[in-house]
Amino acid sequence: MTIPTSHEIVPWPADAAARYVAKGHWAGRTLGAQLAEVARRTPDAVCLIDGEVRLTFRELLSRADGAAERLRAIGVRPDDRILIQLPNRWEFVVVTVACFRLGAIPVWALTEHREHEISGLLAHTEAKGLVVPDFHRDFDHQALAASIAASAPALGPAAAPHVIVAGDEVWPGNLSLRDLIAEADDDGVTERLDAEQPAADAVVTLLLSGGTTGVPKLIPRTHNDLCYLMKQAADICRFGPDTVYLAVLPVGHGFVNTGPGILGALLSGGRVVIGRSPSPETAFGLIERERVTATSVVPTIVHRWLEHRAAHPEADLSSLRLLQVGAARLAPEVAQRIEPELGCTLQQVFGMGEGLLCLTRLDDPAEVVLHTQGRPVSPDDELLIVDSDGVPVADGEPGILLTRGPYTIRNYYRLPEVNLRSFRDGWYNTGDVVRLRPDGNLVVEGREKDFINRGGEKISAEEVESFAREHPAVREAAAVALPDPEYGEVVCLYAVPVSVESVQLAEIHAVMLDAGVAKFKLPQHLVVVDALPLTGVGKVDKKALRADAARRFAP
Ligand code: AMP
Repeated sequence: MTIPTSHEIVPWPADAAARYVAKGHWAGRTLGAQLAEVARRTPDAVCLIDGEVRLTFRELLSRADGAAERLRAIGVRPDDRILIQLPNRWEFVVVTVACFRLGAIPVWALTEHREHEISGLLAHTEAKGLVVPDFHRDFDHQALAASIAASAPALGPAAAPHVIVAGDEVWPGNLSLRDLIAEADDDGVTERLDAEQPAADAVVTLLLSGGTTGVPKLIPRTHNDLCYLMKQAADICRFGPDTVYLAVLPVGHGFVNTGPGILGALLSGGRVVIGRSPSPETAFGLIERERVTATSVVPTIVHRWLEHRAAHPEADLSSLRLLQVGAARLAPEVAQRIEPELGCTLQQVFGMGEGLLCLTRLDDPAEVVLHTQGRPVSPDDELLIVDSDGVPVADGEPGILLTRGPYTIRNYYRLPEVNLRSFRDGWYNTGDVVRLRPDGNLVVEGREKDFINRGGEKISAEEVESFAREHPAVREAAAVALPDPEYGEVVCLYAVPVSVESVQLAEIHAVMLDAGVAKFKLPQHLVVVDALPLTGVGKVDKKALRADAARRFAP
């Protein structure tokens, strides 16, 4: 039996919820209703650009509402999950807005996700629809969908999701996204959808937590909390009708959608330009052609942009006012080059799908922008910095960041055991090690959670280790982060062999690829050792391994 997702979130305590309502944080209106209001106010404004495609708000709403009706016609109901695995293209925005309008719940996946992640997501969400491209980077996504359906026959055809395909090659039995998102056939559709909007405290989307594994951690965000977050972020970023936001980060990420991102730009009456690649050639061309005013990137991309800029000073980036950089540590040496070389204001972003978003402000002094990761976007965000025993640290000392507030979740979706570890008394344990400065800005010092942050893409060490142990010659394995000039961090795997047999990196890769794991999780290096170092309490000493890896592979 499927329990409606709106019943699967741990609500905010009544007194906190009442406070958020009284202060006007929670507006009580769905995201779908708010987008429709913007569309009605400025129907003829162009709001979505992808190559030669230019949609006005009227066209976006009509297509989204048409799609919502057609989804309903194939049995999708409010609260049903729709897994969307699309590259950066305009149809992503339309089908996402369609879900909001219907009250269905979009779950955004990365295009790199393969059988391991997609089958895990489908099983966990019991999604009614799977939206994929026909091909992306030579990978056949329909074949993947078919193979997942074939390997889970116990589900039966009734439980298999509708496969909805973007592109020209739609297999028999699958549905065409192009047909699904055609404009609405009748004028009453929008009125009907407006009248049937879900409650504002219902789940609007399930975000993937960083480091998602085969058993995905999904983050239930509500209309109320997500709309509030985007409003705050949009105000701080000064988004408005003159905003032209370039979406170059993969649209499977929360940052590019909601930080304020694509959806924040649309809610502000602004315009979204879809960048199909974050390469400087593509991005700079779009900035120049569409007079882009704001965009968001990860530090890895900033490096490439700065290099390209030095070689191509003629590119006209004069319209660009704001560059948001986040999801991974930005080195101050790189940060300080942004304003002089790209001619725009840098904003550091420290955030997480679970909620809390910290931003430097556009009028902050250079020292704050270059050396901190900003401060929370809401005055009601609460921060608590504790030591490993959960005791608050002295002011200004580094510690583990706990947070709660009007847009930070209180539980993961359907994971009671994980919830016990990650949430206590309403506080979400971020696993990040931070320092709070007297001026209220946070500095991210490191993390306590066992992830590798590869250019903003989080990889669970535990997941890599469990695949490595599937190799018959591997007895023990430990994955750690290795500093990398391009990605910030990459995965370095330590393995203890069963006997004297040797283990090759390519063999570990083969195990992972055979299991259908996203390629970005593959370790870059393998170190075969006789034993793993242990801490005093008998745990693998990852600190020692990180230091060892950094020494071995020092550039
Ligand atoms: P995700 O949910 O994928 O956005 O991952 C959130 C995590 O990314 C945070 O908990 C941090 O560990 C990391 N992160 C995000 N922004 C930054 C930043 N500016 N500097 C360092 N780490 C960051």
